[in-house]
Amino acid sequence: MSEAQDKPRMPIESGVPDPMPLMHPLMRKNYGKWAWHDRPRPGVLHHVAKSGDEIWTIKAGTQRQLDLHTIRGLCDIADQFADGHVRFTTRSNIEFMVIDQSRVDPLIEKLEGSGYPVGGTGNSVSMISHTQGWLHCDIPGTDASGVVKSLMDELYDEFKSEEMPNRVKITTSCCQINCGGQGDIAINIQHTKPPVINHDLVANVCERPAVVARCPVAAIRPALVNGKPSLEVDEKKCICCGACYPPCPPMQINDPEHSKLAIWVGGKHSSTRTKPTFHKLVVSGLPNNAPRWPEVAEVVKTILNAYKEDARYWERMSEWIDRIGWPRFFEMTNLPFTKHHIEDWRGGRNALNMSSHVHF
Ligand code: SF4
Ligand code: SF4
Repeated sequence: MSEAQDKPRMPIESGVPDPMPLMHPLMRKNYGKWAWHDRPRPGVLHHVAKSGDEIWTIKAGTQRQLDLHTIRGLCDIADQFADGHVRFTTRSNIEFMVIDQSRVDPLIEKLEGSGYPVGGTGNSVSMISHTQGWLHCDIPGTDASGVVKSLMDELYDEFKSEEMPNRVKITTSCCQINCGGQGDIAINIQHTKPPVINHDLVANVCERPAVVARCPVAAIRPALVNGKPSLEVDEKKCICCGACYPPCPPMQINDPEHSKLAIWVGGKHSSTRTKPTFHKLVVSGLPNNAPRWPEVAEVVKTILNAYKEDARYWERMSEWIDRIGWPRFFEMTNLPFTKHHIEDWRGGRNALNMSSHVHF
């Protein structure tokens, strides 16, 4: 046996990388030793360490999907104003770190002049987070990532100011699996018809047991169609979730007319003050009108205006709705309340012990 074969085969660690080597040297030096911080203006964070060291972080919005030339341009700005120190947030905001206060204003001027709004801190509407969409995923029903820029165009002033009662986190999601998580306002695709099966392709393309197993309500069965092995869907059971499309593309569920958008409100991941919450459906059936989604933008702005006007300082969307109640929420936003807002699927109580629907 060779020496190499004698050695145990160790697993390759592929978790979160060590942040230290890439961290700004001043932040590394003062790691865990910060005294206080404040926000001198929207888009700027100022941290002071116990040692007296100071650092300013300037946050700017981007167009979300970044091409190479844009990234190079942003890196040039970082080289010029921030000694090359830059990082991206999970919502694709870009942050420049500077240790010389006199560089803050020229950097802001450069960013704004180059088309990158400075903001997104404190009680602002932060950049919309999105699921991967057509960039990486194989099942999206809409371009969740592409429309983020269009929607943020509508909310530009709210990004640059801190005038909301609390932070507002908006998410977009391109299928009902919603890998994006919870948001104060969430915009999710909603298929409204069962998949249409191309029986000529199923036998060659799909692993049928995998597709049958994928359906959460056991609506798919193997079937022989025109003498060929295929699948059939019990349309009475189907909840139009779209989960069967990835393992079996001939089960097409995306449809220009029947794939709609739904708006959900009141989700949050944080456990600050109140427990994390699931967002709840408030509007359904909006057209999937990419790239600007004007009908969605209208509803989002209506909800934001009501929240801004009525919520108490530091109330997140879910906390505001908990206080005023759902009937008042629908009154204030003038959104129609329909029978589809009420949960009538009992399976959730047994299987999931939770629900994302409005309860009365
Ligand atoms: S939301 Fe659905 S379609 Fe969009 S990236 Fe996530 S899993 Fe894929
Ligand atoms: S769309 Fe969802 S519920 Fe309907 S058949 Fe496919 S996996 Fe099942």
